[in-house]
Amino acid sequence: MKFVYRFGARRADGSAKMRDLLGGKGANLAEMANIGLPVPAGFTISTAVCVHYMKTGNYPPGLAQQVREGLAYVERQAGRRFGDPKAPLLLSCRSGARASMPGMMETVLNIGLSERTLPGLVALTGDERFAYDAYRRLLAMYADVVMEKAEGIEPAEGQGIRAQLEGLMRGLKERTGRRQDADLTVDDLKELCGAFRERIEQVFGRPFPDSPREQLWNSIRAVFRSWNGKRAVSYRRIENLPDDWGTAVNVQAMVFGNLGATSATGVAFTRNPATGDARFYGEWLRNAQGEDVVAGIRTPNPLNAASRNVRNAGMESFEEAMPGLYAELDGYRRILERHFRDMQDLEFTVENGRLYMLQTRTGKRTGVAAINVAMDMAAEKLIDERTVLLRVKPEQLDELLHPILDPAAEKDATVIGEGLPAGPGGATGRVALTAADAIERARQGDPVILVREETSPEDIDGMRAAAGILTARGGMTSHAALVARGWGKCCIVGAKSATVDVAGRTVRFGELAVADGDWLTLNGTKGRVYAGRLPMIDASEQPRFQQFMKLADKHRRLAVRANAETPADAAVGRRLGAEGIGLFRTEHMFYGKGSDESLFLLRKMILARNVAERRAALDELFVHVKTVVKGTLEAMDGLPVTIRLLDPPLHEFVPKSEEKQAALAEALGVSVEEVRERGKELRELNPMMGHRGVRVGITYPEVTEMQARAIFEAAAELLAEKRRPIPEIMVPVTCEARELEHQNAIIARVHVEVCRKAGRRRIPHLVGTMIEIPRAALLAGEMARAAEFFSFGTNDLTQMTFGFSRDDAATFLPDYLAKRLLAADPFQTIDVAAVGELMQTGVSRGRAVRPGLKIGICGEHGGDPDSIRFCHQVGMDYVSCSPYRVPVARLAAAQAALLDRRPVRPAKSRPARRPARKAR
Ligand code: ADP
Ligand code: MG
Ligand code: MG
Repeated sequence: MKFVYRFGARRADGSAKMRDLLGGKGANLAEMANIGLPVPAGFTISTAVCVHYMKTGNYPPGLAQQVREGLAYVERQAGRRFGDPKAPLLLSCRSGARASMPGMMETVLNIGLSERTLPGLVALTGDERFAYDAYRRLLAMYADVVMEKAEGIEPAEGQGIRAQLEGLMRGLKERTGRRQDADLTVDDLKELCGAFRERIEQVFGRPFPDSPREQLWNSIRAVFRSWNGKRAVSYRRIENLPDDWGTAVNVQAMVFGNLGATSATGVAFTRNPATGDARFYGEWLRNAQGEDVVAGIRTPNPLNAASRNVRNAGMESFEEAMPGLYAELDGYRRILERHFRDMQDLEFTVENGRLYMLQTRTGKRTGVAAINVAMDMAAEKLIDERTVLLRVKPEQLDELLHPILDPAAEKDATVIGEGLPAGPGGATGRVALTAADAIERARQGDPVILVREETSPEDIDGMRAAAGILTARGGMTSHAALVARGWGKCCIVGAKSATVDVAGRTVRFGELAVADGDWLTLNGTKGRVYAGRLPMIDASEQPRFQQFMKLADKHRRLAVRANAETPADAAVGRRLGAEGIGLFRTEHMFYGKGSDESLFLLRKMILARNVAERRAALDELFVHVKTVVKGTLEAMDGLPVTIRLLDPPLHEFVPKSEEKQAALAEALGVSVEEVRERGKELRELNPMMGHRGVRVGITYPEVTEMQARAIFEAAAELLAEKRRPIPEIMVPVTCEARELEHQNAIIARVHVEVCRKAGRRRIPHLVGTMIEIPRAALLAGEMARAAEFFSFGTNDLTQMTFGFSRDDAATFLPDYLAKRLLAADPFQTIDVAAVGELMQTGVSRGRAVRPGLKIGICGEHGGDPDSIRFCHQVGMDYVSCSPYRVPVARLAAAQAALLDRRPVRPAKSRPARRPARKAR
C-alpha cells in the first residue's frame, strides 16, 4: 500500500483532490508543485498511517521503507544528504489534517542539525551565526513538541520546557545587554545552545538526540500524536470535526529565510481577509524563519502599500525591498487564485534571493469580506452565481446586520478592555453612566454608550436609547445580554477590568480613565472596548449586501417570514426582507413595559367568577388586542400575518405578590382571599401540558370570540382605509380535529357578524393550526380537513417528542452533548430522525387531504440553517424566524435550493425523502 506521496519540482504524486489522504497542507503542496510553483521538495505521509497508529500504536508494515525512499528523493532534489556532516540537508516535519486546524497541531523545523552536522551547515552557508540560530530553534521546538507534548507531559502553567528555555534566553540577553534576538552574537548563541542541551537533559533525564534519523522519526511520531493533543481535541469538539480522520505528516526540505539580508519570510492573503478588498495583503520579515511572523516577537513589515497600517507605517514593504521577488510572488498570487478560484492564505520564504512557496489554503475571512470576495470573483468570472451563494455561511450575515467597526480602523486601534461579546456589531458614542443620562443625551442627538456596573430592568429605556451597552459584571445570560441580543444591539458584558464610578463620573480601565461624556467604541461581536471614536460602517445598507441578498432570493423557493409581536419589530423584519409574519404571539401584549393596563384586564378576565364577569373584562381587553393587531397588520400591509390565539397557561398571569393581589381584589370588588383561592384553583402541576392554548378556547369560548372579533374588526377598518390586511388566525396546541372545528365555528360566526356590521361580503383571512403535538402530526390528514394552513411549532414538538422540558433541559442536555449521546441540541437544530419524521408525516398526510395546504414553521428552528434545509426538503412553503435572522434564513433557503437540485414538483407528489443527517 502506498503511504508516502512525493512532491518536488513541477510534479507530485498527489493533488489538491486528495485532501482526505494527504491533509489540506499536503494536498496543496502537491498541487502547487504540479502547477509549477517553486515548492521545496518533500513527501507526505498519509492520514491512513495516523489512523493505523492511533488504533495499534504501531506503523503499518512497509512504511519505513517508503520513508527511506521518500527521503532519498528529497536528497536527490535538494542535492544534499540528510545527516551529511559536510553539507547536511535539513527537514521540516509538519502536521496537516483534512480540515484546517490552525495552530492546533505541531511542526518541527531544522531537523537534522546536531553536534556532528553543525560544522557542515556552517561550511555550507558560510554563516556560523545562522547555523547556531537554527540549532537553538530546533532544540527548543524539539524539546517542546517531541520530548514533552508527545509524551503527554503536562507541566504547570509557565513551567513547560519551552518557557524554561525562553527564560534562559531572556537571562542571557539581560546579562549581555542585548535587546533583540537579532543582537545575539555567535558566541551568545553557542553558549545558549549549550545551556539548552543541558537543561533538556536535566528535565527529561535523557539528552537531545544527535542522530538525525532519530530526530526525524521521533518528530513524525510527535506530529501523529499531536492529533490527540489537548488543543486539537477540544478544537474538534468545538468545530464538530470527527476524531477519526487523523493528520498527515509533511516532511520537507528546509529553506532558510534567516540567511541574512537577502533572505526573508512572510504570510500573505490574495485579498484582504477583513474587508475583501481585492488587493494583495500581507506581512513579511527580513532575515527570519517562518514562525517569527506569527509569533509577534517582532512587528512585521507590510507586504505592500495596501497592507500599511499605523503600526507598520514607516516600515519598508516587501514590494520596496525586493521588487523583483514581489512581482514574482504577485504572479503566483494570480495563478493560485485562478487555480483555486477562492481567496488564498499563503506562506512564502526567500532564501538568498530565491522565492519558495511553503503553503496555500483557503483564507478565513469576515462576513463582509466573504460577500465582497464572492461578488468580486463572480464579476471577474472566476466563479458562478451558485458558488457565490454557497461561499458565504448564513451565520456570517449576522455580522452584517448591525453597524460594524470599520475593520481597517479597528486593526490600528488599541484595546482598552475586554468582555463577553453579548450583542453583535459595533457602536461608538459618548459615555453615559446612568440610564437617565443616556436618554437625555440621546435626545440631544448624540450617540450614547451606556456603561453600568450591571444593568437592571429599570435601565431598560436607557438601554434602548443607547447605541451600545457595556457592563463590568454579568455573563452571557445576564439581563443586559438578553435584552441587547433581543434588540440586535451592540453589547459587551462582564468587562472585568472596567471600574464604574458613577459619583466620580468616570470609568476606569486599569490606568486609563474615561470620563462621563467621552467617546468610547465597542466591538460587540468580539467583546473589545476601544477609547475614542472609531468609524463605523453599516454593512446591511451597502449595495453589495443588497445585491447579494437579491441573488439569494432569486434562487430560493422557501418564503421567509418574521416572528414579531409589535409594529416596530414587524417593520424591522420587513426592512430585512420578511415576506410576512409567521408568528404573532398575542400574549406578548401582556408582558413588559406599557402592559400594565392590558395585563390588569387580563387578570380580571382570568379571575372572573362567571361568564358575565368574564365578558365584561373581555370587552375592555378587546380594545387593546385590536390596537396591537391593527398596528401589526398595518406594518405588514399586503403581506400575511399569522396571529396565534392566546397560548400560555393562564396561571402564569395570576398575580403572585400580595400587593398585586390586593389591588386586583379591590378592582374586582372581592376579598384578597378570594383572589388567592381562585389563583390556587388555577395552579397546575404541569402547566406546559395543562389548561392552555386551544383548551382555554374550548372551556371559555368567549375568549376565542373576543380575539376573532378584534382581528376581524382591525382588518375591516384597514380595508376601509384601502389597505390590504391578510390575517391568518392560528389555533395553538391542538391534537384533535374536533377541537379545531369547535374553534372554527366560533371564528366563522364572528366573521359573519363583523362583515355584516362593516358591510362587506368577506374579510380575506385563513384559519389554521399549529402542529406541535405528535398526535396532531400523525393525524394531520384529519387536522387538514379543518385547517387551511399548518405551522409547525417545533419547540413544543421537540419537547413532546423527546419528553425533554425545554425550560429544564439545561440541567442535563449539555451532558448529552459532551458525551456525544446526541449529535446536536434538538432545540437548536431539528432532530431529523424523529421530530423530522413527524413533520414529514404531517406534511404528506396534510397535503394528501388538502392539496396545496400552506405549511410553515414558526419554532426557533426557523432561523437555523440546517433546519431550514430540512424544511426545504420536506416541501414547506415558508420558514419564520426572529426579524434579525431573516437574511440568514433567506441565504440558508437559497443554499438549500442550490444543494437540492431535484426539479421542484408539487409537494404532494414529491417522494418522501429522508434528508442527510448533517446538512451541508
Ligand atoms: P502551521 O500549520 O502552524 O502554520 P506549518 O507546518 O505551516 O505550521 O509551519 C510553521 C512555520 O514553519 C510556517 O511559518 C512555515 O512557513 C515554516 N516552515 C515549514 N516548513 C518549512 C520549510 N521546509 N522551510 C522553511 N520554513 C518552513
Ligand atoms: Mg502554516
Ligand atoms: Mg407551543
